[in-house]
Order: sequence, then C-alpha cells, then structure tokens
Amino acid sequence: MTHDAQPTASHFIDGQYVEDTAGDAIAVIYPATGEQIATVHAATPAIIDRALDSAARAQADWAALPGVERGRILRRAADILRDRNDALSRLETLDTGKPIQETLVADATSGADALEYFGGLAGDISGRHIPLGGGDFAYTIPRPLGVCAGIGAWNYPTQIACWKGAPALAAGNAMVFKPSETTPLCALKVAEILHEAGLPPGLFNVIQGAGPVGAALSTDPRVAKVSLTGSVPTGRKVYAAAAQSMKHVTMELGGKSPLVIFDDATLDDAVSGAINANFYSSGQVCSNGTRVFVHEAVVGDFLERLEARVAKAVIGDPLDPATNFGPMTTEAQMQIVLGHLDTARAEGARVVCGGHRIERAGYWIAPTVLADVTDAMTCARDEIFGPVMSVLTFTAEDEVIARANDTAFGLSAGVFTRDIARAHRVVAQLKAGTAWINEYNLTPAGMPFGGSKASGIGRENAREALDHFTEVQTVYVGTHPVEAAF
Ligand code: NDP
Repeated sequence: MTHDAQPTASHFIDGQYVEDTAGDAIAVIYPATGEQIATVHAATPAIIDRALDSAARAQADWAALPGVERGRILRRAADILRDRNDALSRLETLDTGKPIQETLVADATSGADALEYFGGLAGDISGRHIPLGGGDFAYTIPRPLGVCAGIGAWNYPTQIACWKGAPALAAGNAMVFKPSETTPLCALKVAEILHEAGLPPGLFNVIQGAGPVGAALSTDPRVAKVSLTGSVPTGRKVYAAAAQSMKHVTMELGGKSPLVIFDDATLDDAVSGAINANFYSSGQVCSNGTRVFVHEAVVGDFLERLEARVAKAVIGDPLDPATNFGPMTTEAQMQIVLGHLDTARAEGARVVCGGHRIERAGYWIAPTVLADVTDAMTCARDEIFGPVMSVLTFTAEDEVIARANDTAFGLSAGVFTRDIARAHRVVAQLKAGTAWINEYNLTPAGMPFGGSKASGIGRENAREALDHFTEVQTVYVGTHPVEAAF
C-alpha cells in the first residue's frame, strides 16, 4: 500500500526543504502495520549549524515587528492548518498510529487553536508601570529570548510543534524544532504552513534526529532556551545540559497522575473520565490519570460499567473513521508496556480486561484495566505510557489525598464528585500542575498546562507560556537631580 508520506526532504530550514543524506537514515514506520512509509536523515553538524544560523539571522527583524503583524501571520497559519485538517490528520495517523477519529479533532486543530490564540495575544505583549514615589517610576519590557530550541515527544507531533512554536514566535523569538525521530513528518508540515502564511525564512526551522541532535541544541551557545516535551530521564539530561550556558528551560515531562472517584460521583461520567484518562491515544498521553482511586463503596459497580464500556472499543485500521483505539507508536514502547503487564501480574494485580498484545501486524496492546492494585506495585508507581489503567480503592478523603500525592510526579490530577466543596478542597491539596473536576485531559489553548515536582518546570499555553518565552528588562526612570556622596 502506498501512503505518500515521504516528505520533500528531511529538514526545513530558512523557508525551504533541505536534504543532507550524510546524516543517518531514519525509517518512518506506520505503527498500525509495521511497514516503512518514509525515510528521513538525521541532521549532520552542518545542518544543525545552518538551522541555528538562519534562526539567529532572522530573529531580530522578527522581534522588531509590531506584535499584531506577527500575530496576523500566526492566525493565517491557523486557518491553513484548519483548511488542510483532513490531509494533516491522515499524516498524523500515519506518523503515530493514532486513529483518524482522534487526529481529526485533536492534532492539527489543537495546533491551530494555539496559533490562533497566541496570534491574538501577540499584539498585547506588554510590561508593567511601577510608580516609585516622588515622580520616579520603573517600567518593564518583556523581551524575546532569541533562538529557542523545541524538542518533541512522539505522541503529539503536530500539537507539540505548535504549542512550542506559537508562543515562541508570538513573543518575537525564532525556533529550531527537533521532532522525535520516531514521528518526524508532521512538524515539517507545520513549518511549511507557517512559511506559506508569511513567516519570514529562518524563524521556524525543523531538523531531524535522535537524542544527539537534541543534545547538540541543548548545549549550543546560540540557543537561549530549550523547551522539551519528553520523559523525566531525558528532562534531567536536557535541564543539566542547558544549565551549563544558563539557558531558560520549559520541561513538559511524564506523570503518574491520580484520578479520584468519590462515592457520590455520577458514575457513568466517572467511567467516561477514566476512559479518556487512560485509553485516548492508546494511553500515550503524559497527563493521563493512570492511578484511578475509586471509593470502596462503588468500586464493584465502577469496574462492571468500565469493563462493559472497554469491550465496545473499536480496534482496527486507524484510517477507518469508525476505529477509536489504535496501536502503540513504536515497537519498543509496545515491548516496554508488555514488560509492565508481566510485572503487574507477578506483583498481584488482577487483569479485569486486556493485559496482552493483540495479534495482528503492527504494535497493538489491548486496552487493559488492572484491579486490586496497591500503592507499592510498580504499575502504580512507574509511568507506563500505554493503555493500562490501574484501579485502587480508598475509603477516606484525607487518606486518598495523601496516597495521590505519594509520587515523585506532579503533572495532573482529577476528581469526580458531586460535592462542589469537596471537589475544590481536594484539588487544592493535590500536588499537580493541572487538575480537572468532573472532566479529564481537556487542554484548551487558553489554559496553562504543565507539571510540578519531577513532571517538569514552566507552563505551556495561556499567557503563562509567553512569560516563559520572554525575559523582563526593567527600566528605572529618574525624575530628580541626581544625588551623590561626593
Ligand atoms: P523521550 O524523553 O525519550 O524523548 C523526548 C525527546 O527528547 C525526543 O525528541 C528525543 O529524541 C529527545 N532526546 C532524547 N535524548 C536527548 C538528549 N540527551 N538531549 C536532548 N534531547 C534528547 O520521550 P518520548 O519521546 O519517549 O515521549 C514520551 C515521554 O514524554 C513520556 O514520559 C511522556 O510522559 C512525556 N510527555 C510529556 C508531555 C507533557 O506535556 N508533560 C506530553 C507528552 C509526552 P529521540 O526520541 O528522537 O531520540
């Protein structure tokens, strides 16, 4: 089967596609079948240089434009993304294996939302006026940082490129973006569309490669900031590398987030929330609520309803709009998840449904619910990054808050209850960057998103993201004769 997924060239630099076959070949695999659908080449040092140099050349003029002009280009790019949603969603499905039913509503559209949102804000980036008494005052100027590096994970290649690119560009920066080597296709389309929308060459360059290319960006003196979406171990390495030259960082890392379901919750909503928190994108979502704490009084009913709902998952060709559950994005990730399932069984977790590989071409794991899970089990402690929900039980509010917080991660949390006082009281005590009440995993562009503790630093989306792509210059204005000691 031909998928027409081969990009024009591996990299997009200075407004055009660029190839350098001297870089290691990277096979692009369609995860639903395991077939190779394209080849790209990792960036050589020459390509990395070219990308950084062109970004550095372009950035100052871009920063000097009025914000509304920058914003207009971003909003135009948002419109093009939406116009081409069908083709972009298909490419995202080929790149990641996620069902087209998901990619049509969650990827190019989410990227367009970010471009539109930050396009709108670009004209409103402003500082503060600080009266200092006696007529003196200070003011602040949010300055762009310069050239920023974006490094992406493989689960949301279009969205991650836009979530990083849109605020960076709105604030007057340039970006060199390195997608995950396993999903290299979609960010190229984002670059192409931004330039078609009028972005001057050099401001959003995409270069391919694995960890070493990301590491080169994280240490290069031309880079002022690194924004990474990835795992905690990679985050530690990138943060440490960036510290050598005191770069700004945003770290969007992994999680093991709690989803707490009280006995007064609307149970069908809670089941829907738990499904969205575990099986969307086959569980390859950083913010997933994978530790589902269910009140003892309703756990039987919850598991029964959940099992019946999971049995309705439509597992099949991700390009078929009826399919709502796809494969793992890589074979390696499938093997990691299978290893976790073996460990869970060995440690005493009960498999309610799933728990095995689906025997078909590609990298498929059945949606899995584990019950009788205890806090100490590996499946309740480690991020699995696959379609594996661990169900734990609790009886008291204080107890569940303490157990929910007993993790090194702090990305997200969720609470299902009809008691609004309890909902707010509980989320206020959960150590998580983002919490949902009677919902899960919705991340609109206007809402800050990011982690605490090991899950990261900084925030994406909303006005907060602009703060992370600017630094404040403060200006003191004297209005009096200057006093001096002598
Ligand atoms: P990885 O940490 O393996 O990789 C992330 C990116 O970093 C990839 O582009 C990778 O390159 C690159 N990289 C690897 N090593 C280095 C290095 N030493 N220096 C610089 N860059 C490097 O994550 P995954 O791609 O496996 O993504 C899954 C992880 O991402 C999960 O832990 C998940 O929770 C997290 N994630 C977090 C999100 C959030 O917003 N908080 C959202 C989505 C995912 P390559 O892979 O090509 O080798």
